[in-house]
Amino acid sequence: MEVPEVIVCVDCGQSAHRLTIPPEEGWEIGDYVAYRCSGCNDRWDLVVCHEDAGEIAPDSFAAEARAILQARADNQATGEN
Ligand SMILES: [Zn+2]
Repeated sequence: MEVPEVIVCVDCGQSAHRLTIPPEEGWEIGDYVAYRCSGCNDRWDLVVCHEDAGEIAPDSFAAEARAILQARADNQATGEN
């Protein structure tokens, strides 16, 4: 299983590069993969998950990152940190 080395940051649209070194035995579903955005310097922690277990479409990462962003916005809306 492969994960992309670079994803598009949903926050600012810049490239976010992978921080996590691939495990020797390869990526597995449930592994955490961290990305650092070169634009806004945000960190994205994404989980490897894919139904096909073949390749991971960058879109699925973007969707997950978007969900994280939305959750963050919701917290801010309710006044929590
Ligand atoms: Zn960014």
